[in-house]
Formats: sequence, structure tokens, C-alpha cells
Amino acid sequence: MPFEIIICGAGLAGLGASIALRKKGHKVTILEGTVQLAEVGAGIQIPPNSSRITESVRRYCTGEIIGKTPLYPMMREQYGYPYWLIHRADYQRCLREHAEHLGVQIRLNSFVDAVHDDGQRPVVILRNGTHLTADIVVGADGIRSKTRSSILGEDHIEAMDSSQCAYRATVPAEVMRENPATEALLSDTSASCWVGDGRHIMAYPIMGGRMYNLVLPHPGRASVGAWNEPGDLDEMKRQYDGFDPAIRKVLDKVTSCRKWKLAELPPLSRWVSDKGRAVIIGDAAHAMVPYLAQGAAMSIEDGAALAECLERTCGDGNLIPRALRAFESIRKPRCEIVQEASRGTGHMWHMPDGPEQQQRD
Ligand SMILES: Cc1cc2nc3c(=O)[nH]c(=O)nc-3n(C[C@H](O)[C@H](O)[C@H](O)COP(=O)(O)OP(=O)(O)OC[C@H]3O[C@@H](n4cnc5c(N)ncnc54)[C@H](O)[C@@H]3O)c2cc1C
Repeated sequence: MPFEIIICGAGLAGLGASIALRKKGHKVTILEGTVQLAEVGAGIQIPPNSSRITESVRRYCTGEIIGKTPLYPMMREQYGYPYWLIHRADYQRCLREHAEHLGVQIRLNSFVDAVHDDGQRPVVILRNGTHLTADIVVGADGIRSKTRSSILGEDHIEAMDSSQCAYRATVPAEVMRENPATEALLSDTSASCWVGDGRHIMAYPIMGGRMYNLVLPHPGRASVGAWNEPGDLDEMKRQYDGFDPAIRKVLDKVTSCRKWKLAELPPLSRWVSDKGRAVIIGDAAHAMVPYLAQGAAMSIEDGAALAECLERTCGDGNLIPRALRAFESIRKPRCEIVQEASRGTGHMWHMPDGPEQQQRD
């Protein structure tokens, strides 16, 4: 018998899980807090599930390539799936359209205040006072999750400051073509990464080459939770003084940027409620720094793994707690390894010039 499942949050984790669960025949409703679904940010990398970081890595000041992994066709040949570079809004729209096509119900303007799992049918309490019940509740409401503490029955769990912020910006292709140096970057369909002391620039074309996407992590102070705020263009350019003239020419063409505080969650004691009928996934469970481009990838994996674990119940509701705990035991260690590896990639990329950096190169 299919289960009734409520997912809190229609980000990439919630939408991905809704598709995986609906494909197994479950009745899925997503409760999204915002009145309109609009993914913020710019580009996003979608790696094949098992791949690690894959782009050309350049010395920050000269642009000299110190490592290169062609995304096409190597990724598909090696891992069986392609490596996509896509605009986030397009990614979210594709997932949403697919979810709705499969029959997932998405309820906007439905901000979840709390989830209570009494061991029978967990209850979701909306900000407007409405109570909803389901066989299973999935908290997919991001790094600043409200559902996390009520599902885990713990005090508010703070995200950890990474001491880094990131600017995000895009440059239209026609502007990139105004200069041979920037045009050459646009024509490289892989992602390029200029790595320097405490900062790097990740850049790649998106939207079929119509936009050039930039992610610019750097040391920065902002409170955890400062998210998608207007960035200061002069400050952004100052952060990358001394970088390769070609990528600096791209920065000169940026007309506006957004700033994000980079943060991650500490490893949590568990992901499943005491009674075993509510679970957290995605950034709500394992937010990580973005240096491996795996945060959303792990979230999508969560949904697929959850659907597989629930299938093992053969529709027996008594087995839901076992299935959710099996999900946790499979996913939690893997995501913690990836969180750690993401942090490690940051250390490796952000070495100051010197013997260690030379050894790395
Ligand atoms: C600079 C940067 C670059 C990145 N690049 C990559 C990359 O290239 N590849 C990659 O895989 N990952 C990347 N990531 C990570 C990726 O963005 C996240 O891991 C992913 O978006 C998390 O998705 P999510 O659905 O868990 O959370 P979110 O995207 O935060 O979605 C949560 C959803 O829940 C809703 N919500 C929140 N609270 C409530 C509530 N109480 N009730 C109802 N709804 C609620 C929100 O409105 C939102 O729609 C990057 C992250 C950053 C910061």
C-alpha cells in the first residue's frame, strides 16, 4: 500500500525526493513556505552521483592550468552519467514540472512551524494554525530548518560559520564576446577554477552558453544566515586583486552580484524522530561548504535512497521506522564524509603561495 508523505520545503531536496517517492507510487504533498517558487543564486553544478570535483584548476595569478578533467565526454564514459552545468532556476523548474506531471501536490504559502511524531501519524503544524497528518513527514527546509529541532526533539541546532562568503554573478554571452580573452573562457564548456590564497573563482557557461556563471568564495564576515544579499561590486573586485587578468576582465563586466554567507551543519546525532516516522534530508540534515559542488547532489541522492528504503516495507506501515532508520544509517555516514571532503577541498584550494602550494600544484 502506498504511503501518504508530506515533504516540508520545495527546494532541490524536497522536489527531488517528491519525484523519487511519487515514482514508487506514494501520495506526496510538498508544503512550501514561500508564496512563489523562485530559486535564488545563479549556476549550479550537477555531478554524476559518484564523481568528485571535476574542472580545470588554474593558478590564480596567471590562469595557468594545473589540473584538468574534461566534463564531456569523460564523465559519462567513466561514471555512466553526464556532468551538467545549469542555471538553478532551470534546474528547479525542471524538477517542479516533473514532480507536478507525476502528480505531486505542491502547496505554496504553507510555512511549517513544527512537526510532531507521536508514533501513529505525525502532525505538521503550519504557521496559519492548520494541522496536517501523514504516514511520513520529511523535513527538507534547508540549512535554517524549522522542522529539524521538532523532528529531532533537540534545541535549535546552529549552522557553523565557515569564515567565508561567496559572491555569485552572471555575465551575458554577448558581453563576454566583446573581448578575445573573455570570449575564450566562454567557449570552454568545462568549469574553470582559479585557486588562490583563501579564495577562488569557479566559473562556467550555463543556459546553453548564453550566460557565464561566477561563484566567488572569499574570506568574509557576515552572520550565519546572511543569504542572497546585494553584494558590493568594488569590494568583490578588490577581493580578487592579483588574479589572472583574463578572469579579472570578466569581473569588470559584472554589473551586479549577490553575496552569500557560507556555512555548514555539524554532524547531527540522528536524522530520524524518536518514533521513527519523520526524517530530515538535504541541507536541513547535512549542509556543507560548496567546494565539491555536492550539496544539492547529496540532497537528490537522499530522495532516491529514501524511496528505495521505503520500498523495502512492501507497504507495511509498521516497518516505516525501520526503513527510515535504515535510510539514516546509509546516508548519514556518506554525507558526513562528503561534508568533510568539501571542507578539505577548501583547504587544498586556498593555500597561500609557498612550498605547500607548489607541492599541491
Ligand atoms: C555558493 C553556493 C554554491 C553551491 N553550488 C553547488 C553546486 O554547484 N552543486 C551542488 O550540488 N550544490 C551546490 N550548493 C549547495 C546547494 O545549493 C544546496 O545543498 C541545496 O540547494 C540544498 O537544497 P535544499 O532543498 O536542502 O535546501 P534549500 O535550497 O534551502 O530549500 C529549502 C526550501 O524549503 C523552504 N522552506 C524553508 N523553511 C520552510 C518552512 N518552515 N516551511 C516550509 N518551507 C520552508 C524554502 O523556501 C526552500 O524552498 C551550493 C551552495 C552555495 C551556497
